[in-house]
Amino acid sequence: MIKLHDKYFKKFISQEQIQEAVAKMAMEIAKDVKEEQPIFVGILNGVFMFFADFMKVYNYPCEMTFVKLSSYHGTSSSGEIKELIGLSQDIEGRTVIVLEDIIDTGNTLDELHAIFKAKKVKDFKIGTLFFKPEAYQKQHKIDYIGMEIPNEFIVGYGLDYDELGRNLPEVYQLHTNNMINLILFGKPGAGKGTQANFLKEKYNLVHISTGDVFRYNIKNGTELGVLAKSYIDKGDLVPDEVTINMLQAEVEKNPEANGFIFDGFPRTTAQAEALDNFLTTKDMGISATIALEADDEILIQRLLERGKVSGRADDQDEAKIRNRFDEYNQKTAPLIDFYKKQNKFHSVNGIGTIEEITVRLSSVIDEL
Ligand code: AMP
Repeated sequence: MIKLHDKYFKKFISQEQIQEAVAKMAMEIAKDVKEEQPIFVGILNGVFMFFADFMKVYNYPCEMTFVKLSSYHGTSSSGEIKELIGLSQDIEGRTVIVLEDIIDTGNTLDELHAIFKAKKVKDFKIGTLFFKPEAYQKQHKIDYIGMEIPNEFIVGYGLDYDELGRNLPEVYQLHTNNMINLILFGKPGAGKGTQANFLKEKYNLVHISTGDVFRYNIKNGTELGVLAKSYIDKGDLVPDEVTINMLQAEVEKNPEANGFIFDGFPRTTAQAEALDNFLTTKDMGISATIALEADDEILIQRLLERGKVSGRADDQDEAKIRNRFDEYNQKTAPLIDFYKKQNKFHSVNGIGTIEEITVRLSSVIDEL
């Protein structure tokens, strides 16, 4: 991920894909015009990188020139008028191929057609490296297309975001926040981990369970594990600072994620505030907090059952379980209001089969 001005962009089209498209265009164009000694006209600024790479693989006699389309606001009702600057050659009677980096709405195409027709060229063709069929609003045929792309804002390989990004050797796409970041909320034993395992597959999200990360560290005897164990074994919460740092590190490990499921985090108001602040610095945010609701007595039975197989000390002793519920009631329950104030709180019935509950959660997520 890279940042240009205020926005984040993620990798979209690799150098190999670009070079393949450029080579394909060069072949197609050569097939049609190689005998004609055409004039290639590059539309600056965006075309410079494509134009150079194109010329390296177009191995036939040709001329080349560059123009700019400058817009100025006329007084006519049509508003914006475009003017071609920099075309000094006499192109009458020549085969002209205009090369563009990208065509989206096609607005400048009208101008180009009008301008070149007036110059009495023999043949006029247009080639573009990138084409956005969903955005295109014109009838003109585009003679050569390197690759069709979805209607996304792209930068790199000559294309800019407010003048930055042109020198990137590959194409990046605006990282819009259609990222889904979920908090699975609920008391111990509510089924957060179980459901997260299904939801992460269904929505292609990265699952971060702070409890699992702690247990992994305990198992491996890390410093963090040793520290956390003393709290976890009693059913107390691990101190905020430790937990927050750990969570941030887990998020940082997944820069390409489509989104995250936070399971067991946040558990305190300080953690929730830290999470909001941290996500803001990454141009991310929480999409929804979804609570799985179930009765304490049912949860205690579930946890005791789980304790028989998991071996978790904190699942095997009813007093420890009750302590975890106390911790939840005192420190975690206030987050319901925290997320309600942000209009992000949802709750679903956590009693039923695993599939039924996944369906309930999915219907909340699909509405987001
Ligand atoms: P869990 O697997 O989510 O039930 O977590 C097991 C234990 O790990 C908890 O009882 C806490 O001791 C510790 N823990 C997990 N997540 C957090 C958190 N967000 N804040 C503090 N302690 C946590």
